[in-house]
Amino acid sequence: MNTISEQYEVVIGLEVHAQLLTQSKLFCGDSIAFGADANTHVSPVTLAHPGSLPKMNREAIAHAVKMGLACHCEIEQKNYFARKNYFYPDLPKGYQISQHTTPICKNGYVSIKTEAGKKEVRLNRIHMEEDAGKSLHDVNESNTAVDYNRAGTPLIEIVTEPDLRSSEEAFAYVSELRKMVRYLGVCDGNMEEGSMRCDANISVRKRGDEKLGTKVEVKNLNSIRNVKRAIDFEAQRLIKKLEAGETIRQQTRSFDAHNGTTFAIRDKEDAEDYRYFPDPDLTPFDLKSEFIESIRAEIPALPAERVHTYIHQYGLSEYDATVLTEEKDVADYFEAAIGHTQNYKAVANWMLGPVKSFLNEQSQPISGFVLQPAQVAALIKCVDDGKLSFSTASTRLFQLLIQNPTAAPDALAAQHNLIQQSDASALEPVVDAVLEQLADKVVAYKKGKKGLLALFVGEVMKRTKGKADPKKTNEIILEKLK
Ligand code: ADP
Ligand code: MG
Repeated sequence: MNTISEQYEVVIGLEVHAQLLTQSKLFCGDSIAFGADANTHVSPVTLAHPGSLPKMNREAIAHAVKMGLACHCEIEQKNYFARKNYFYPDLPKGYQISQHTTPICKNGYVSIKTEAGKKEVRLNRIHMEEDAGKSLHDVNESNTAVDYNRAGTPLIEIVTEPDLRSSEEAFAYVSELRKMVRYLGVCDGNMEEGSMRCDANISVRKRGDEKLGTKVEVKNLNSIRNVKRAIDFEAQRLIKKLEAGETIRQQTRSFDAHNGTTFAIRDKEDAEDYRYFPDPDLTPFDLKSEFIESIRAEIPALPAERVHTYIHQYGLSEYDATVLTEEKDVADYFEAAIGHTQNYKAVANWMLGPVKSFLNEQSQPISGFVLQPAQVAALIKCVDDGKLSFSTASTRLFQLLIQNPTAAPDALAAQHNLIQQSDASALEPVVDAVLEQLADKVVAYKKGKKGLLALFVGEVMKRTKGKADPKKTNEIILEKLK
């Protein structure tokens, strides 16, 4: 064994809260839109006025089931909501409605890629609950303000088994989860807006030990990078403590993103007693098998499946396949484009090259891209037919087409005089002239300076204003120099 760190194993279990992308809150019609003025989405139900009654949101349940099915979970058909009782200013009712003890989805797993290959991270559960409001400590110097817009927003909490073994694995897991919720349309995955938040449970143990070490829980990590940073910091802190012969206390901690450290919020002695009981205002609900199956039918092909298809069916590299499937809209665009051409690799190159750069420059999502997939396929055909080089097509013609999104690319190329010369009878005189002009270089070439070929080709390009077909030009020059 080498360093002290290597004598220890880090064990991590993650709890991820994801706000569901519904029209309205879990138990009333208030909007859940992010960024509204404070306390504008607050009906009597949200504010817990006496006599107000909750009404369950079906769309939220459908989303939770969809995520569970995508994660290979068992779906619980008999469900109810319970009250988790505690006081906090952001919780007007004095209890949170939750499914903590009876989750809608159980077991299942999420596959991630690790250094050692594929790994299945087991899930313990996915349960539904409502979000709390938000305490604001920075709007007023001496007081805390509360915004109840978020109170009652539907959440799912996705809880893993303690299966992760490094901050890199945790990073891969949260990245995968975010991709999944976005593909499924159940959550927007925007961690910086708080719609996905992660609590990391971390412990360390000597390698080879069976028993798990005492864990600490770092709450409310708001980016994937911070999940990794918090785990890295915390693992080192715990290892140092053990090395110093100290015992670790089970604690809830918070991450300070500014300096990358964590600090204790509270000690967790025993499980808190929240006096759970079924909410008497909400009836239990049964999920019919037909309902579950109808949701299963809506699940699109997920990133892992698409990566597999792109590699094995379309012959793309793993890198291209992975980048193309980062976002569902991009993958869908790719799949639409390959309906119009057999040159799959070229579609990938165009999408990861010129199309991506253009969209980045414009800070535009692909959903708003002016060119239809068929047009990108038509551009590719122009290049494959030898009408123009990739370089002319991806710079000049691509820009022209963006200005005229419905024009036929080949007609547009002809109109702007971009069609390249691949006709030998037109190119030969140019080649002859170039070789005559560079007679001394021709001698050098024949003596062995084969690198001069590029110079001859470049000169032909110059004289034809870039319109000579480089492949054809090469052929003609080689023939003449024999
Ligand atoms: P709690 O009751 O404190 O919330 P749970 O048993 O519900 O604890 O587990 C919460 C999360 O902590 C789960 O993701 C679980 O995998 C993880 N976890 C449990 N024990 C450990 C441990 N010793 N080390 C790391 N993670 C753990
Ligand atoms: Mg917990």
